[in-house]
Amino acid sequence: MRGSIATPGATTVRYGGNTSCIEYRSGGEIIILDAGTGLRALGQSLLKEFKGKPLNLTLLLTHTHWDHIQGLPFFAPIYNPRCRLRILGCEGARTGLVAALTGQMESTYFPVPFAKLPSNIEIEELKDFNFDIGPVLVRAQRANHPGMCVGYRLFSPDGIITFFPDVEPRADGVDQAMVDFLRDADVMIHDSQYDRAEYKKHIGWGHGCVDDSVALALQAGVKQLCLFHHDPDHDDKCVDEFVKHARQLVAKRKSKMKVDAAREGMVIQLGGKIVMKRN
Ligand SMILES: [Zn+2]
Ligand SMILES: [Zn+2]
Repeated sequence: MRGSIATPGATTVRYGGNTSCIEYRSGGEIIILDAGTGLRALGQSLLKEFKGKPLNLTLLLTHTHWDHIQGLPFFAPIYNPRCRLRILGCEGARTGLVAALTGQMESTYFPVPFAKLPSNIEIEELKDFNFDIGPVLVRAQRANHPGMCVGYRLFSPDGIITFFPDVEPRADGVDQAMVDFLRDADVMIHDSQYDRAEYKKHIGWGHGCVDDSVALALQAGVKQLCLFHHDPDHDDKCVDEFVKHARQLVAKRKSKMKVDAAREGMVIQLGGKIVMKRN
């Protein structure tokens, strides 16, 4: 949930310092959203849970900025021959997706080359922005962010989640396409890196602010907003303030929408029951 770079330390321990990584389960499918540094701990917990049984995973990448792919070389299941991993994402900004992902495992950066991995990995560039993963209907949409970047909408009988870890609101008023894409989500996980004043100093950087995320979520009628991509310079107290501010905005509009900030190990049960758990 952290943006830009991992930030371990005493001041970020409650929300966590790892970068973008979400696990979504529905209908027997395990879908991972982004491969930030949080992917390492997810890999450990999957191996522990499946204890040598075959693992069939899908990884959806929003884009290839470091904070969204750096966990991949440290994802233990890729060293397991019984793991099958399908990676889907848009092309890297200048090189293809395969080059972007295998490049970070070249010997300059990492000791194990991608070609030597014993697991079965398929990397596919998104050709179609509408596809299915088992019973889960997936839609992708371009995000306003430097380079090629998308967000996802996952729809299953369990509910709808949307995931835009890196996105800046478009300058020209209501973004109707975005409102429609987010419409009625049970959980909207959304870039809320800045407060209003900080955002004014970072226009064009490709990230959004809490006030705009709340406004967008209310327009789209979502049930729960999850603030995401916390700034590396924001400590836990600052994120607490963002949550407080967002809840005040929601209360002013007399809405029942829930707001939380994403935190490490947070579990959301679709269907309204929220369970919080520490890793
Ligand atoms: Zn990012
Ligand atoms: Zn980015």
